Amino acid sequence: MTIEERKQLPPWVSYKIFDIFLGKLQQYLPTRIDRSYWGDMFSGMIGTQLISAMRYLNLIDVNQKPTARLRVLIDALGEHQDALMRQIADESYAFVFKGNIDILTSSYADLEAVFRTAYRMDDDICHKCIRFFIEFCKDAGIPLSQEIVKKQKIRSSGSDTKSAHISDANDEKNLEQLINDHNKTDWEECRWCFAIDQKTVKARQIAHYHFPDATIIHMKCDRCGGEYSYYFRAWGEDYIKERIAALYPALKDQITDDMIVTINHRLSSEDYGDH
Ligand SMILES: [Zn+2]
Repeated sequence: MTIEERKQLPPWVSYKIFDIFLGKLQQYLPTRIDRSYWGDMFSGMIGTQLISAMRYLNLIDVNQKPTARLRVLIDALGEHQDALMRQIADESYAFVFKGNIDILTSSYADLEAVFRTAYRMDDDICHKCIRFFIEFCKDAGIPLSQEIVKKQKIRSSGSDTKSAHISDANDEKNLEQLINDHNKTDWEECRWCFAIDQKTVKARQIAHYHFPDATIIHMKCDRCGGEYSYYFRAWGEDYIKERIAALYPALKDQITDDMIVTINHRLSSEDYGDH
């Protein structure tokens, strides 16, 4: 492992986005995972966070190509997947598991201290890293202490810091910007509540649909009862190649990167309303 790699922060992207992204990869695994794959499914910021998370977990290599591990992970089901995720956690979060805390008994503060010792980052990022770690462990079936889990729940449902920050923004333009940003990036949080009183409320996913070029996520907020959906556009290179080959079978093995880039560009330039 090079020094540069070691400096890379643990994942701090929303775990739900990561999970949805894996679901999408399960459908089409491109030869290289980059912007051309997720299109405008994710903002540039989230795309960067996703790539960095995938790198950290050794699911893609330095050239952003899927690793054998990613292939096995997305093919694995049920218990196999849990076991594989445990292995990934063990390796990627060795600084936690092989460190000097016992995650079965330690507190959230202990865990935070471990993250802070291993990496330099600000509070917000640190809590996001820990949040991802906890969600990952949950999915991998790795038990954590009650205190860590409880504290995490409180952190996730608490909206104090954010709404305090937002209420300062009495400038109409700032507020509009905040709402735009919120709708773009914090899609797990109820857009109705945020639009009404700037409260950040976690909504739950009630369905999601994968289409060849888009994923739609249907959410419901328990606070206001509002439902909303997010529409992410994304498609894979493989899908484009299939379409070309369907029209021009003779080209099947001659499809170049340039062709893919051109076609991607044409696809992306379509106007899909707000996106
Ligand atoms: Zn709501």
